[in-house]
Amino acid sequence: MVAQVIDGKAFAAKVRAQVADQVAKLKEENGITPGLAVVLVGEDPASQVYVRSKGKMTVEVGMNSYEHKLDADTSEEDLLALIEKLNNDPAVNGILVQLPLPKHLNEDLVINSIDPAKDVDGFHISNVGLLGTGQKSMVPCTPLGCLMMLRDHHGSLSGMDAVVIGRSNIVGKPMAQLLLGDSCTVTIAHSRTKDLPDVVRRADIVVAAVGRPEMVPGDWIKEGATVIDVGINRIERDGKNKLVGDVDYASAAERAGAITPVPGGVGPMTIACLLANTLTAACRANGLPEPEGLTA
Ligand code: NDP
Repeated sequence: MVAQVIDGKAFAAKVRAQVADQVAKLKEENGITPGLAVVLVGEDPASQVYVRSKGKMTVEVGMNSYEHKLDADTSEEDLLALIEKLNNDPAVNGILVQLPLPKHLNEDLVINSIDPAKDVDGFHISNVGLLGTGQKSMVPCTPLGCLMMLRDHHGSLSGMDAVVIGRSNIVGKPMAQLLLGDSCTVTIAHSRTKDLPDVVRRADIVVAAVGRPEMVPGDWIKEGATVIDVGINRIERDGKNKLVGDVDYASAAERAGAITPVPGGVGPMTIACLLANTLTAACRANGLPEPEGLTA
């Protein structure tokens, strides 16, 4: 079997176009322009790139982008004061604090100071609890993007066996909750899992979120399974820098029914879902119906 490639780049463009349509409608019918505030503390080069591209795409879909760049030695008090200001600003529907934060700042404290209704990253403890109890929440962007691609490919996921490799708060755990919410039978694997190859071989859906280059070989994949590769790993091969996932793409593509490539799979969906979450937050804040197909 040669796997169908799930084109995350094209899918993300479709999601952004949907968001842009809905934003235009919100402006026209309700006079509302959703706004996303991104807070960057310090000068981490990767974070600067992410923040720039988030700002650019926010504007492209017709929303307002507010960037707050703070010095690396910003005090916790000043950062919390900025978040409080954004919490109270009606023009701001979504607040994202770019992680990681410099060491002297308490990430949990900072994230949990964001108004949960504006927590478009879905990391606030209230949103984690709401997702865990199957209630309406803000869902972390990367797992939401994976869920959208799986729903698009399969329609219903009900009754499928899913394995999520990785149990981080950002990807693994919320991914497992979302799959459970869609009635999959979910196994969460991690570094202490026994017989990982056998666990993976049972799965109709494999989501790999580990951060180890090509650790899942093709012979772990059940014939016809759907493989979602969240991993982003930079390696050097044949003297060149390359981006690879957590799955060995070439061998997995020979057995899987469908697979996301790296790059061009899950990655582009993350920002698209951030924009979708900001739109959802704006609709909720104004008592309007949520955008269809853009929430969990
Ligand atoms: P973390 O490092 O927080 O979590 C990694 C998880 O993998 C842990 O739960 C760990 O288990 C597990 N793990 C480590 N080694 C093994 C092993 N040998 N076998 C099984 N499980 C193992 O990573 P993240 O969840 O933040 O990210 C995972 C990957 O996804 C990274 O490559 C990251 O770059 C990428 N990523 C991509 C995004 C995108 O937009 N596409 C967004 C976010 C992340 P344990 O808990 O036992 O230590």
